[in-house]
Amino acid sequence: MNKSQRQRIKRRIEAQLTCFERQARQGQLSRGDLLRSFRLRSALARVDSESFGRCLRCEQPLNFDLLQNHPERMICGECLNRS
Ligand SMILES: [Zn+2]
Repeated sequence: MNKSQRQRIKRRIEAQLTCFERQARQGQLSRGDLLRSFRLRSALARVDSESFGRCLRCEQPLNFDLLQNHPERMICGECLNRS
């Protein structure tokens, strides 16, 4: 993953978190949203590290489109199917 892809994912996470925070202030955050916001926060903390975007098991790069929509993903599809 190159630097601009990383930046793009970072901005998406931040935008999503801002949206969740707004919902939280209005008391509209569901349990599922809350869980997702925790996962996104953890992804945001990892996004600048070298290992971000690589599968934890096989270390292959994760699909960029998948990561854009699910930045919290840490395991690739193949490994997920194998477990
Ligand atoms: Zn894998």
